[in-house]
Amino acid sequence: MTPHRVPADPAKGAAVKAADRAHVFHSWSAQELIDPLAVAGAEGVHFWDYDGNRYLDFTSGLVYTNIGYQHPKVVAAVQEQAAKMTTFAPAFAIDVRSEAARLVAERTPGDLDKIFFTNGGAEAVENAARMARLHTGRPKILSAFRSYHGATSTAINLTGDPRRWASDTATSGVVRFWAPFLYRSAFYATTEAEECERALAHLEDTIAFEGPASIAAIILETVPGTAGIMVPPAGYLAGVREICDRYGIVFILDEVMSGFGRTGEWFAADHADVVPDLLTFAKGVNSGYVPLGGVAISPAIAETFARRPYPGGLTYSGHPLACAAAVATINVMEEEGVVAHAARLGTDVFGPALREIAARHPSVGEVRGLGAFWALDLVRNQETREPLVPYNATGEANAPMAAFAAACKSTGLWPFVNMNRTHVVPACNITAEEAKEGLTLLDEALSVADEHVA
Ligand code: PLP
Repeated sequence: MTPHRVPADPAKGAAVKAADRAHVFHSWSAQELIDPLAVAGAEGVHFWDYDGNRYLDFTSGLVYTNIGYQHPKVVAAVQEQAAKMTTFAPAFAIDVRSEAARLVAERTPGDLDKIFFTNGGAEAVENAARMARLHTGRPKILSAFRSYHGATSTAINLTGDPRRWASDTATSGVVRFWAPFLYRSAFYATTEAEECERALAHLEDTIAFEGPASIAAIILETVPGTAGIMVPPAGYLAGVREICDRYGIVFILDEVMSGFGRTGEWFAADHADVVPDLLTFAKGVNSGYVPLGGVAISPAIAETFARRPYPGGLTYSGHPLACAAAVATINVMEEEGVVAHAARLGTDVFGPALREIAARHPSVGEVRGLGAFWALDLVRNQETREPLVPYNATGEANAPMAAFAAACKSTGLWPFVNMNRTHVVPACNITAEEAKEGLTLLDEALSVADEHVA
């Protein structure tokens, strides 16, 4: 298959690209080694370039357009808010900010009823860490090796993945541990129950040897996202909650990627019935139409700052345009049943189809996920589970994954690729037909990955 064709304007595309190359400094990139696609437009689960190629987006941007691109009701809400009040400083009570906070608080688990707004996920993590340290008076935070928490100073140090290395001087007060991941178990476990028990024992040991009274918080992505979509085994999150309670440690769940319907619940914590002390969110809260993130705060931590000022803030905290987008997004998700739809996509479409695809391809080592949140772990050998490319591979060593990604794009599917994995993370309101169409293209492209099986 080749990409669906739409009207082209190559001259405009060339101008967009030239200005980008001249002036835009891109994230995470060696600037001269990248070749960003010039995008002309986007709608729903599709976007298109200036050469007339339309792509089915299996990435939701960076896993954030949970309701797809250009939802007319959210676009209209942003336009209406712009006409009414584009901006106002954070110290004031503003109708749309109050409403966004109410709608978020009503959906976050348990009694997380106070919302501190930020401009994105990293700032949410940054502030959650600060709140935990001030609340407990303790310095250290424990985080998982297989994790991503953002790119600002504390958030990048809390991050486990290699993007941390360049910014990590080992002075950030972060201690890392292994969270459960049966397929690549750090504990030689052979069942989910064993993995859960051993991961909890390892966490307890880490706390005992670090000194419980020095630990402010444990932060976990409820379902780790960029690091590989590892749904935690039954009992793990409840076990961490119990450990935190026993030692007076703040439990932070990072739901920046897993929140707002992605897993088929409003928050992934709902699957485990666990309530953290702090919950960070961003991305899906308004599908990224205007930058917004935040921290949902427990009564006990809110009480710490009831009569003592919270030493943190942002000029754009609770920006009216971003809050209007959040109000409209949450209302749209309710009206259109997006969360239940994502759950059904997981049980009825992605789960069965991806397992079927995996059975046909020797390069697929494991399929895991739920809702609209799936990973294929690609391997050179299903027996040894050797990853298709080495950890953090670049250049020639990463060629098999690059070839797989190129094969997807040549069919009109835009894939999410990270190390030896591809993630199936489209908008949560993708139709079953669109999802199946993308899965057919994925199936086709996986034959390229199969060529690298040893
Ligand atoms: N936390 C998690 C779990 C994320 O996936 C991300 C981004 O991918 C972040 C935090 C950082 O969010 P942002 O890029 O909005 O700063």
